[in-house]
Amino acid sequence: MQEFLPPRRLLLGPGPSMVHPRVLRALSTPLLGHLDPAFLTVMNDIQSLLRETFRTEHRFTIAISGTGSAGMEAAIVNVVEPGDAVIVGVNGVFGGRLATVVERCGGKAIRIEAPWGQIVPQEAIETALRQSGPVKAVVLVHAETSTGVRQPMESIGRLCRDHEALLIVDAVTSLGGIPVDVDRWNIDVCYSGTQKCLSCPPGLAPFTLSDRALAAIKKRRTPCQSWYLDMALVADYWAEGSRAYHHTAPISMLYALREALRLVEEEGLPARFARHQLNSEALLAGLMALGLAPLPPAEHRLPMLTCVTVPAHIDEAAVRAQLLQTFGIEIGGGLGPLKGKVWRIGLMGESCTEANVLTLLNALEELFIRSGWIATPGLALQTAARVYSRTR
Ligand SMILES: *Cc1c(COP(=O)(O)O)cnc(C)c1O
Repeated sequence: MQEFLPPRRLLLGPGPSMVHPRVLRALSTPLLGHLDPAFLTVMNDIQSLLRETFRTEHRFTIAISGTGSAGMEAAIVNVVEPGDAVIVGVNGVFGGRLATVVERCGGKAIRIEAPWGQIVPQEAIETALRQSGPVKAVVLVHAETSTGVRQPMESIGRLCRDHEALLIVDAVTSLGGIPVDVDRWNIDVCYSGTQKCLSCPPGLAPFTLSDRALAAIKKRRTPCQSWYLDMALVADYWAEGSRAYHHTAPISMLYALREALRLVEEEGLPARFARHQLNSEALLAGLMALGLAPLPPAEHRLPMLTCVTVPAHIDEAAVRAQLLQTFGIEIGGGLGPLKGKVWRIGLMGESCTEANVLTLLNALEELFIRSGWIATPGLALQTAARVYSRTR
């Protein structure tokens, strides 16, 4: 067998995103033992950088071993006990998954459904909290990657506190691309993933718990059904001064995350958010010039994930295949009820640049002209360029 050399790709799908050379270099640094004092400083650094990124003072802020889904599983499995009622906003794939995990923990999932492409209305959450008796937690997806919807989060935490429910938030796609204000929004459990706007390979799940969440976990009547993701045990490894063996930390991934978070810190969160916003506006302007309409309404669109509906005369899967084969560009198709109907274009972290926006629009234009779907070359590029020139 020969060495595997991956073809060159521009990753503009719903994840993973492009990875900075400095992060790749960190991945290949020599290993340390996971209890080596030199490695413990790496963990301390990650904790403090993650607190900045989550905008939280929570002492319990760590990186869980596993992808974003491990963060999701950890959030639910530690909080939810058999018989607990949990309100879950379901307006796409990830809300649906969260409800399933709640049920696998023996919880009662109270689903608040909203159409795919729309937000979960706060009034519906409020009504459910008032009518459902004691509720253990409210679970929401901040950035629904299957539809490109941005869930408003500012005042839901307060509402949850009034009803003595914990607030659990999926910030897998949002962290590092739009504000995730854990403390100001009164979020009790928040998790993310490394492969989206943090631009690190998939493999770790940033995770933070409030004191209220920790107290609820301590008060459990039954032990957490997962041993690997039991935060009461994992806490002893991450706690300074203790660092007791639980499982071997994924050393190389933690090196990589530390470097990815250093890059976030160097750029600064406000500049990073502005970059995601500007590039997504230019991308969407160009896509609309090609006749592609965004799925979510203007006030609830994510900058790092643009979801556009594809007109029926366009074979969306064939275009995606050509983008990959001819131009080496990856974008995403639709999931579930949106399969075959939308494209999901990610501008996440390192992938989010003006050069990438113009490269993708040029490639799409080229394919659209070849198929006779548009006649004027350059229109999408000009429209996008106008957005950039507006800001200079
Ligand atoms: C990608 C994603 C996940 C799952 O993360 P993995 O790294 O694929 O395990 C969970 N929630 C949302 C909103 C996501 O976009």
